[in-house]
Amino acid sequence: MKKVAIPPMVSDIIENGVININGFLFDSHDICPHCGGELKNHDIKKKKFVTMQKNGEPENITVNIRRLRCRNCKKLVYADSPFYDNIRLGSPIVDFCTLNLRIHPANHISKILRSLNILVNPSTIRSLKKNSNPGDIPYIEFHGILFPLSLLNISESLRNEEISEGNMLIFQMTGRNTGTKK
Ligand SMILES: [Zn+2]
Repeated sequence: MKKVAIPPMVSDIIENGVININGFLFDSHDICPHCGGELKNHDIKKKKFVTMQKNGEPENITVNIRRLRCRNCKKLVYADSPFYDNIRLGSPIVDFCTLNLRIHPANHISKILRSLNILVNPSTIRSLKKNSNPGDIPYIEFHGILFPLSLLNISESLRNEEISEGNMLIFQMTGRNTGTKK
């Protein structure tokens, strides 16, 4: 088996980011995507982001996502959140898996994630292969592992989300400076 070597600074940034997202409320939104109508608050849904290993025990990391009702067409709309359609795993984790599927088998990717205390089954990782296009995910490589900026920048994105309401570009962090952290 190949050994997993991740610089401690990188694993700290990722683990802290995932821990920070636990319980975060995503509520920024724009107008109704169906008709352009005005949205009003409806309720808040809890969604699992990923499972982490904490003191040897699995623990769910969940986020809260506001749902809004269109005043005009009455449809329910989710606020912007770090998920892809129909994938029940946080998008930065999906980005990590789909990028590394280019160069590593799924069981090795699962092992890399485990070394970050992030638990994702190889079968889940394999299932991401068909519905993803990792071509345009920005990343940094360390020791043969591809780290998407979306995963390295979770904490920073949460701070920006708190500062600017209605920021549609959360988790689309292309080109954002990552060289100055820590
Ligand atoms: Zn509408």
